[in-house]
Amino acid sequence: ILRLRGVRKRFGLDTALDGVDLDVRAGEVLAIMGPSGSGKSTLLHVLAGVYAPDEGSAHYLDTLVSELGEADRARLRLEEFGFVFQFGQLLPDLTALDNVALPLLIAGRPRRQAVRQAKSWLTQLGLADHAGKRPGELSGGQAQRVAIARALVTAPRIVFADEPTGSLDSLSAEQVMATLLELAKGTGATVVIVTHDPRVAAYADREVVVRDGRISGVGILA
Ligand code: ATP
Ligand code: MG
Repeated sequence: ILRLRGVRKRFGLDTALDGVDLDVRAGEVLAIMGPSGSGKSTLLHVLAGVYAPDEGSAHYLDTLVSELGEADRARLRLEEFGFVFQFGQLLPDLTALDNVALPLLIAGRPRRQAVRQAKSWLTQLGLADHAGKRPGELSGGQAQRVAIARALVTAPRIVFADEPTGSLDSLSAEQVMATLLELAKGTGATVVIVTHDPRVAAYADREVVVRDGRISGVGILA
């Protein structure tokens, strides 16, 4: 569903990705692992069309994403992808409900429909009683579940997660991961997840290891 060929990405003199070939298969959960600074987040951002590569190609299905402009990539992300990040992903002044409804509103859905779907996702994540709270009034694990609801509310084809459990204790991390993957699998979504945590990676079907901006290993886990 995603295909990278010969991808290079530099930041000034720093080469973050140095010739990456990678295929992500439809419906799989792929874990991206590797040391700090190895290029994992950069790889995720290129796969998700956040960054255009300096060299090489990035496809999503038949779309050559690496040739799209900024605005077309932004629309592709909004329409097809969901994102869960470690920090700062929720808007602090909006309630949990409004945070989850926001992607639907941006996509132009009527407010009543957006609110109904947002409520349904919050309920599935066990947060029905917290819908009116702002992120600062939620625990870390609750806030992460709100972020998951927001990532899934648009029924994305691919969910991208970067250290989604990095700020949680191991029990909450395990629960958040299990919930994310169960719900994503339920919708048939493909999941690409960056993690340092081998227990999180154990939920994946396959893992790739990034070192010094290159893929240094591919393993099948399930
Ligand atoms: P971590 O596990 O610590 O999150 P990572 O594997 O995700 O690390 P990246 O964030 O992809 O690593 O960074 C790879 C390299 O690219 C690093 O040397 C980093 O300093 C550099 N880099 C990443 N993003 C930027 C940016 N926006 N501007 C400048 N340099 C960047
Ligand atoms: Mg990172």
